[in-house]
Amino acid sequence: MDSILEVAQLLKKSNKTVVISGAGISTESGLPDFRSSKGIYQHTPEYVLSHSYFFHHTKEFYDFIRKTMYFRDAKPNQGHLILAEWERRNLVHQIITQNIDGLHDVSQNVMEIHGSILTATCQNKQCRKKYNFYDVLDSGDFHCDCTEDKRYLIKPDIVLYEEAVPLYESAFWSVHDSELLLILGSSLTVQPVASLVTAVIPGTPVVIINNQSTPYEGKKNVIAIHASIGETLAKIDEALNEN
Ligand SMILES: [Zn+2]
Repeated sequence: MDSILEVAQLLKKSNKTVVISGAGISTESGLPDFRSSKGIYQHTPEYVLSHSYFFHHTKEFYDFIRKTMYFRDAKPNQGHLILAEWERRNLVHQIITQNIDGLHDVSQNVMEIHGSILTATCQNKQCRKKYNFYDVLDSGDFHCDCTEDKRYLIKPDIVLYEEAVPLYESAFWSVHDSELLLILGSSLTVQPVASLVTAVIPGTPVVIINNQSTPYEGKKNVIAIHASIGETLAKIDEALNEN
C-alpha cells in the first residue's frame, strides 16, 4: 500500500496518537537548526548552552542565543497547522517537542521537553519574575531589578545541558501509552528524545517523516518517509478527507 494512505488509515484507527517533533519541523519555518552551527563558533552549542556556561559566561551565552536562536518573527508552518487541525479532529492527542521556539503554540496538548525560548525567569527564588525573553535579549540587560544591586540573573525557560529534563517521565509514559507514534523532523540521535522511542510497546506502529534516515528505520512496524514534513502531512490530510 502507498505509505501516505497507510498513515492516514493508522491515524483513523488509533485512539492515542503521539507526535514527537524535532528541529526538522521548524526549519520549514525558516529557522536554522542550532546544532548545524557547529564550527561557526569557538565552542560547541552543547558547551555554550550548558548550565555552568550560563552562570559563568552569561554575556557570551546571551550573544550565542541572539545569533542562533532569535526566532521572534517565526510563524508556524503548514506542518504545525495541520497537527493543530488533527488535534481538533481528535486524530492527534499529544505533541512532545524538542523545539524551544514555541511554534507548536497553535496546538493545545504540547509538552516542550526542552522548555521554551519565549519566556524567562529571575533566578532569585524569592522573586521568580517572568519575562518575555525576546524583550530581555533586546534590552541587553540580563539582570532582574528585584534587588538594588541587580544581583540576580534572568534565565530563559529552556532546559540547558547539565540540567534534568523535568517532563521526561511524562513524555515517556505518553509514548508508552500510544497506539501510534509519529516522529517528525527528528534525527533521533539527541538524548533524551532518542531513548523516548524505546518507550513504545513492541508492535505499535511508528511513522517517521524526516529528510534523512534515522537509526529506527527498517524495523518492523516502522514506516519511514524521507520528504518535507509540511508537504507530507498535507498529502496525508488529503487522504484522510478522501476516505
Ligand atoms: Zn527578580
